[in-house]
Amino acid sequence: MQVNKVIYLMGAGRSGTTALATFLGNSQYIFNAGELHQLNEHLIAGKNCSCGKSLSECEFWLAAVIKNNYSNDGDISDIESRDCDIERHGSIFKHIFNRYPRQELENYLRRQESLFTALTKVSGKPYIVDSSKYIGRAVALRKSSHINLKIIYVVRDVRGVILSFGKNVQTSRSPLSAIFYYTVINMVGELVYRMLPKQMVMKVCYEHFIEQPHAVLDEISNFLALDLTEVKERISTNSDFAVGHIIGGNRLKNDGAIKFRQDLEWRKKFTKLKSVTYYLLTLPLMLINKFKL
Ligand SMILES: [Zn+2]
Repeated sequence: MQVNKVIYLMGAGRSGTTALATFLGNSQYIFNAGELHQLNEHLIAGKNCSCGKSLSECEFWLAAVIKNNYSNDGDISDIESRDCDIERHGSIFKHIFNRYPRQELENYLRRQESLFTALTKVSGKPYIVDSSKYIGRAVALRKSSHINLKIIYVVRDVRGVILSFGKNVQTSRSPLSAIFYYTVINMVGELVYRMLPKQMVMKVCYEHFIEQPHAVLDEISNFLALDLTEVKERISTNSDFAVGHIIGGNRLKNDGAIKFRQDLEWRKKFTKLKSVTYYLLTLPLMLINKFKL
């Protein structure tokens, strides 16, 4: 069996993972598959690919998944509930301490390996980006000896996350709910980031990427040992980035293509009092990730 090259974007929701995945997916070497943890749900509910067609009508997913008998080891609803249990937050430490039932994990990994093999074959690109974000999925996938996993842990200033959750797209959250969610996910994310070997994981600060995209792309390029010059050129020339055939991926999904924008609007949107309060409520993470007050 081949070893699949997977670039996994991990982090809290609204941290910029979908945008980063789209930029990377415009490299000739990388295919952006979107949030693959939602694949089963998309198949069951007949949800659409970002191209606007349902997965059973989209030529890419039809070839990559449906004709590859992805769900051939059982009923898809049953697979969905087993995969959800493996990837949920409560299973993270079971994976880290090798306490997850072995046979279940092996079946899961076999399904994921065949999925990545099919994606690599059909896309014709050697690297697959999976922007699922879930930490549980990252620590489960790393158990596979047929997946060469490179994790990019994306962190964003809490105030950008609060502003994004306040907009009424997909799920919205109040500032306090966003802060609680952000803290839990990023505390665990930080721990996992520190525990994994350095050749397997790197951290990208979303604000740093927005302000200095070329410098951050150079770091990612070194980490992946992959030339990303064409992505840098697209940013320099303000070209479109095609969204392609992705699963999930919030509002970008309907746009077909996006441009790189210096989107740091939260810096102007909050009053000084709110800005300082949100910062202080997440102080350890703000300091660890060097976000400025
Ligand atoms: Zn499609």
